[in-house]
Amino acid sequence: MGKQYDAIIIGTGQAGPTLATRLSNAGMSVAVIERHLFGGTCVNTGCIPTKAMVASAYAAHLARRARDFGVAIDGDVRVDMKSVKARKDAISERSRSGVEKMLRGLPNCDVYTGHARLRSAREVTVGDQVLTADRIFLNVGGRAAVPAMPGLNEVPFLTNTSMLELDAAPPHLVIVGGSYVGLEFGQMFRRFGSEVTIVEMAPRLVQREDPEISSAIQDLLTSEGISLRVNARCIRLSGRAGAIVAHVDCQDGSPAVEGTHLLLAVGRQPNTDDLGLDAAGVSRDERGYIAVNDRLETNVPGIWALGDCNGKGAFTHTAYNDYEIVAANLLDGESRSVTDRIQAYALYTDPPLGRAGMTETEAQRSGRTILVGKRPMSRVGRAIEKGETTGLMKVVVDANSREILGAAVLGTGGDEVIHCVLDTMYAKVPYTVLQRAMHVHPTVAELIPTILQELAPPAS
Ligand SMILES: Cc1cc2nc3c(=O)[nH]c(=O)nc-3n(C[C@H](O)[C@H](O)[C@H](O)COP(=O)(O)OP(=O)(O)OC[C@H]3O[C@@H](n4cnc5c(N)ncnc54)[C@H](O)[C@@H]3O)c2cc1C
Repeated sequence: MGKQYDAIIIGTGQAGPTLATRLSNAGMSVAVIERHLFGGTCVNTGCIPTKAMVASAYAAHLARRARDFGVAIDGDVRVDMKSVKARKDAISERSRSGVEKMLRGLPNCDVYTGHARLRSAREVTVGDQVLTADRIFLNVGGRAAVPAMPGLNEVPFLTNTSMLELDAAPPHLVIVGGSYVGLEFGQMFRRFGSEVTIVEMAPRLVQREDPEISSAIQDLLTSEGISLRVNARCIRLSGRAGAIVAHVDCQDGSPAVEGTHLLLAVGRQPNTDDLGLDAAGVSRDERGYIAVNDRLETNVPGIWALGDCNGKGAFTHTAYNDYEIVAANLLDGESRSVTDRIQAYALYTDPPLGRAGMTETEAQRSGRTILVGKRPMSRVGRAIEKGETTGLMKVVVDANSREILGAAVLGTGGDEVIHCVLDTMYAKVPYTVLQRAMHVHPTVAELIPTILQELAPPAS
């Protein structure tokens, strides 16, 4: 018989550590198990390091544009990749050690390091120890997907994890995958000095967005000298370290893209294949995600799945929101559901894209009568003053209920501005409340009420 706890948490990503704190504060004994780096993907190989590097890339970009602002820089602007990496590592390390220290300092909480597996619905093994609890929380996250692409096992390739170890910019980075991870790395390494080619199988980048958003992002990237190859239906890889060839069957351009390094950015897969789910009787869906209901309970009573591994979200804020839902239901007597949340995320290109709710395409497909308001960033005073006029904003409204259905802000500050729309959506009030709000001048957000005064039926 192993050590008994009130709760076992597997994984220290974006839900586990805060859940451990709540459970420990509620007087429960808790075991937390982490097999690799405390803080998980966001802290070590995801949001935090990439956004630290996006900030370095922005600094380089702005320095190169210094003359536009009347600032003279004598000599070339050079990027010192070793320093970029050191800065990024220090920011991640601060966060990682903060999570570990916090967990190790919790009362009633034991921290185990090692790979955890379910042995039954109440037992977890870690190394040669067996831990038991009536409540088990799975927060095991995911990793870069490596699909069976012809030739892939014959060429060296990078993922989001190994990209972060580079301390020199690749001469020519070929990125397979034109969505969030691929675009963020693509733009930042272009600004660090690499030649960059992004290869995407679909007809356009970031397919889930409206075509005009995809096209504005496409223009933004090409304006910085990034080559794009969309419609790359049959991708085949060959070559060796330093000389990679991506064979792409596109409508336009040469059938081969040659580069020095290859980044694979084609999605994520959950860490559920070696978790002992079968031994505990926990069901997965066909893509490997742990099946949960709207309260994030698995089919086995007493076992929950939170964060990326349940397939209900793929972001830090969705994982954290999962923690809030589970903790509120378990400890506060509430009845919260994952269906209460509104989709929201950002793409951290520069300028960033902030998104909330439905796209215009989704709203139209839902059969609603909609109204749309738009404004290019070239007509936003704050953007003009900052010299950052790329992008556009749009808000989609239900013409009958007058509720906001969704919004996209591709432009300077878009990741922050989106929240005034998102919070109005959560308040479930008519768009006129936001339309009549007095916003601060000069800001990007001050134009959201103006856009709502100019709503019109969609163009087609
Ligand atoms: C390049 C990149 C950039 C990103 N940028 C953003 C962004 O800007 N904003 C955003 O919201 N999201 C971003 N994300 C997504 C975000 O990182 C994830 O959605 C988030 O980290 C998911 O958190 P999680 O708690 O589900 O799992 P994770 O953070 O993945 O943590 C899971 C933890 O469980 C551990 N573990 C797994 N299996 C076991 C086991 N069997 N035993 C013990 N421990 C185990 C792992 O080691 C890991 O520490 C990005 C992701 C990537 C890859």
